[in-house]
Amino acid sequence: MCRHLGHVGPRPVTLASRVTEPEHSLLVQSYAPADMRGGGTVNADGFGVGWYSDTGPHSYRSPVPMWTDGSFLDLATAISSPAFVAAVRSATVGMPVSTGACAPFRDADRVFSHNGVVRGWPGSLRDLAAELDPEALMTLEAPTDSAVLWALVRRRLDAGKDPADAVADVVTRTLAAAPGSRLNLMLLTGGPAGEPVLVATAVHHALSWVVDDEGVTVASEPLDDRPWTPVADHHLVVTRDAAAVEVTAL
Ligand code: GLN
Repeated sequence: MCRHLGHVGPRPVTLASRVTEPEHSLLVQSYAPADMRGGGTVNADGFGVGWYSDTGPHSYRSPVPMWTDGSFLDLATAISSPAFVAAVRSATVGMPVSTGACAPFRDADRVFSHNGVVRGWPGSLRDLAAELDPEALMTLEAPTDSAVLWALVRRRLDAGKDPADAVADVVTRTLAAAPGSRLNLMLLTGGPAGEPVLVATAVHHALSWVVDDEGVTVASEPLDDRPWTPVADHHLVVTRDAAAVEVTAL
């Protein structure tokens, strides 16, 4: 199952500092993950990064293994950002391998990733997806469970819901409709004063976080041998000030 990470800090750091350089970076997790649960051995079906910058959010996604994209590995050392989400993908059986299916998804000011699977998809999400307007369904970037979850989260954010509440609501309703789903969601968005807010859930998948003077990093697997804090299953973490996380039960 895919791996992802999010970082929010007081000042920009290179994408490489979290994505490609640490001893157990996301790059390493793409070919040698340590804690895959629920199947899959490598995360070779694409990757992506979405990052904030002075010119707004940007993203780079590709349906190839991260380790084969030398241009990205180089760019990651040159791009600095105070807030980003990155993901490597192991496509769920039956779902396409394409750029549009790679997390993170992004719109004008938000970045979203899903690590896991919705059980019984697509039938199990029929009722929940019915709340989406047809245009949102017709413009999904890919016919995948993750793309539908992203549309459901966006709808709640567009309605003015707090980011943590929006993510928690989608997780809770999806679990009710599709029990046993693996729902590690990650959302980067702007808070009330425009500051970046990072929300992540642990539902049947690994997740840990660490804080240092460069900010808060949340990742599927610890990137190094520092004392990362594991997030208990069925919990949500949110960082609103880039210096600490709040953990709540879902
Ligand atoms: N189900 C999602 C997809 O296929 C996420 C896959 C995963 O976490 N392994 O894109």
